[in-house]
Amino acid sequence: MHTDSDRRRFAKFIVAHAPLDESCWIWTGACTGGYGSFGVGSRTDGSARTMPAHRFAWEAYRGNINGMWVLHKCDVKLCVRPNHLYLGTHADNTRDAVERGQMARQKGSTNGRSKLNETQAAEIYTRTRNGESPLRLSREFDVARTTVNAIKEGRTWTHCTRPARIAVAKDLGA
Ligand SMILES: [Zn+2]
Repeated sequence: MHTDSDRRRFAKFIVAHAPLDESCWIWTGACTGGYGSFGVGSRTDGSARTMPAHRFAWEAYRGNINGMWVLHKCDVKLCVRPNHLYLGTHADNTRDAVERGQMARQKGSTNGRSKLNETQAAEIYTRTRNGESPLRLSREFDVARTTVNAIKEGRTWTHCTRPARIAVAKDLGA
């Protein structure tokens, strides 16, 4: 269903770990709504479109989605590791979202390290680049100033704050 060239491009946007390690494969390309976003198809024949990266991962490595939802076992929206995904229904997704909401209140955002979501990180990046004070932004978003500085300097959240696509790891192993 997807071409080898799509698969090769896809692999460049993943931070993969050793094959035996069970860590998430984090998407480093463009994002939409907190999920990875990947362009497939070709402009010349009019089949070009963007799709959620985790849906591409399922189709490329597991098979047909058959109208189901592709959901995360690991609860990390940016993860595209095929064995962290499963097919479910809209109801499964809603139930998971409720559970996620309860967990999020305990541990912060999806990775448990930060209270910011991708949209807020992108906003902080843009505003610091436009000259707003990191101190003021840190108060407004209720995060440490070092967090704001890290976003400003592109040391973190870069996959969501920068439109540029950065290839981090190429060898998927598994
Ligand atoms: Zn994962």
